[in-house]
Amino acid sequence: MPVTIAVILFTITTTSFCSGVRRSSMTDLDRLATALRNAETAVALTGAGISAPSGVPTFRGDDGVWDHFDEGQFTYGRFQSDPAGFWADRLALHRAMFDGEYEPNVGHEALAALEREGYLDAICTQNTDGLHTAAAASIDTGAGEGTADPRRADEGPTILELHGNARRVRCTDCGARTTAEPIFDRVSDGERPPTCDCGGIYKPDVVLFGEELPGAVIQRARSLALESDVFLAIGSSLVVEPAASLPRLAASSGATVGIVNLEATPCDGIADVACRDDIVEALPRLRDRIETQ
Ligand SMILES: [Zn+2]
Repeated sequence: MPVTIAVILFTITTTSFCSGVRRSSMTDLDRLATALRNAETAVALTGAGISAPSGVPTFRGDDGVWDHFDEGQFTYGRFQSDPAGFWADRLALHRAMFDGEYEPNVGHEALAALEREGYLDAICTQNTDGLHTAAAASIDTGAGEGTADPRRADEGPTILELHGNARRVRCTDCGARTTAEPIFDRVSDGERPPTCDCGGIYKPDVVLFGEELPGAVIQRARSLALESDVFLAIGSSLVVEPAASLPRLAASSGATVGIVNLEATPCDGIADVACRDDIVEALPRLRDRIETQ
């Protein structure tokens, strides 16, 4: 009996609040930090969980965007058949989602720093808010930290936006991309649908319901997952494709897979480290561990 009690006490004091998945311990972070230091290729995948601390509304869940808007009005089919009506509704959606000035949080900044310092080769994101790009830009303009990897100093950040970027629009004829905000102002002034100089109709540069995913971007993400020695999935529930299969691809080719998410994910079972953790705490700590190891 004393042995049993000791085992129970040991279990309570060293592991989890929740069954199955643990909050990250220093051992978890050390393990990921060591793997990142030694990796030839390391890739991060992020989902809505990394942007929630910046205040970006989520689409699903309690009080999500689709509680307030009819997602059936935002399909590719409607864009094609009724572009004027689509853009009128899209303006309302965009204003509801992006009227606040969102800033990258310390989670975005930690990933951008790891990328800049050569510990991460690419950031794949399911998010369309552009915050990884914003974090990378702010690091570059505030650069000068002597830790940057000189091998990568001249390269821009590799950020693969799997579902596009809501801060841009794209011409459906010539493919030109431009900043969304002035186009939304034109929509607000009555130009519906807004058109490019070439006469083509602009479309939000995001993947709409019923629209094909950007094949080249998805293929690149899959290749990176297969090549990776370390694959980190951060703030994603890992239920939507293609994100759902990327950690499995990485694991199938022998990568160390780390998952950091507040909720359990279907991929936790194949992960080397899976923890329910607050991203804004875990990622800066992970970066600290890499630098102090
Ligand atoms: Zn055009």
